[in-house]
Amino acid sequence: MNVFLETYGCQMNISDSEVIRSVLSNAGYTLVPVIDQAQVVLINTCAIRENAHRKIYGRLDTLRPLRKKMQQEKGHFVVGLLGCMAQNLKETILKHPVVNMVVGPDNYRALPELIAKVSETDTNKNLQVIDADLSEYETYQGIDPNRFDGVNAWVVIMRGCDNFCTFCVVPYTRGRERSRALDDILGEVHALVLQGFQQVTLLGQNVNSYQANGISFADLILEVANVPGIERVRFTSPHPKDFPEPLLEAIAIHPNICKHIHLPLQSGSDRILELMNRTYTKNEFIQLTQKIRQIIPNISITTDIIVGFPTETEADQQETIDLIKTVEFDSAYIFKYSERKGTIASKKYPDDVPPEVKTRRIVALFDLQHEISLNKNQAKIGSTINVMVEGETDKRPGFQMGKSDGNMTVIFPSTPHLPGELIPLEIKNATTATLLGQTLTIPVLTQT
Ligand code: SF4
Repeated sequence: MNVFLETYGCQMNISDSEVIRSVLSNAGYTLVPVIDQAQVVLINTCAIRENAHRKIYGRLDTLRPLRKKMQQEKGHFVVGLLGCMAQNLKETILKHPVVNMVVGPDNYRALPELIAKVSETDTNKNLQVIDADLSEYETYQGIDPNRFDGVNAWVVIMRGCDNFCTFCVVPYTRGRERSRALDDILGEVHALVLQGFQQVTLLGQNVNSYQANGISFADLILEVANVPGIERVRFTSPHPKDFPEPLLEAIAIHPNICKHIHLPLQSGSDRILELMNRTYTKNEFIQLTQKIRQIIPNISITTDIIVGFPTETEADQQETIDLIKTVEFDSAYIFKYSERKGTIASKKYPDDVPPEVKTRRIVALFDLQHEISLNKNQAKIGSTINVMVEGETDKRPGFQMGKSDGNMTVIFPSTPHLPGELIPLEIKNATTATLLGQTLTIPVLTQT
């Protein structure tokens, strides 16, 4: 049978889709690039914000004519909802007239049997299947993710989260933390080198709480960075509570570990941080950034911020503004609070910040961060940085793009260099999000 797989949401979902492709092709299913060729449509979904839910409901509605046509022609058509929204909504989403299979993130090994079961009996959408039990152990060990070609391979090192930030649905959709064994991860990284990948990004919901048989995240990242052929190692997403000195020292000393830390702040107000159950204060966060910059002077620090968490006042917003000015992040992803079903915040705190206030606050933070990012980027003009080539840019013919060590996008006039090559570039210009580089004829002397 032909399967069309569509993926929404975060990098963990994209990585899960690599596992799903592998599970299905090993079982004899064919992955097709066009939906009209498929007897099975799988939608791997995200539940992190309300508009992610709305997008999926809209997508399901567009499948109504296709389901009707396929049922008339073939007698069956499987539409499977996978991922966090499937885990979060379970039976509720089965009420949608096109969905006949719901499978949560820990149940993808069962997909071949579930699809076969539904498609054999689904003549009038009379069989519906749910498999959404969370597992304490599933890490998809032994499954070789079916990746698309590229420079970077995402390597899942742990799944789940035990932190229960009150706004976040992840602990309910992805279950408890569990880490993959070191040998299993290293085996995958060695294989990735043979497949031609130059960079790996270690991935997990709470990556720096990795713990497996006494191996810490600091131990793991050094082991991965020492794999011959791996030029760069990145990681995402960490929690500010788990940055012991050995981890910072590992990042500082190993040339292959990129000097970039994504450090989600969420709010600069102690009162809101406590309501969010983030387990640190604003001063502890500031001190951590100072320690990071002291141990790794050329580090790039980026963040996530939520505006409009329940009860957030203008004074709370001002504290976030003050913290952004103090820390001067290299860049920030800023979101409006969106209540998620089943979270502690949804049960305890009414979503009481009006939409127009959230909009005003997010615009204020965007404007501030843009100014900081622009200043930081312009300060790089005249310096020389190492860039890993990723390929031609779609937006600017005749130019290639790549990433700096600090994860900045750099564009530069096209060169003969191939994706995956590290090249020194002199920075000639900068915007809030992009650096403009030019090739050198001399070897690299400085690093950013
Ligand atoms: S650390 Fe908090 S925000 Fe991140 S996945 Fe866990 S609960 Fe969600």
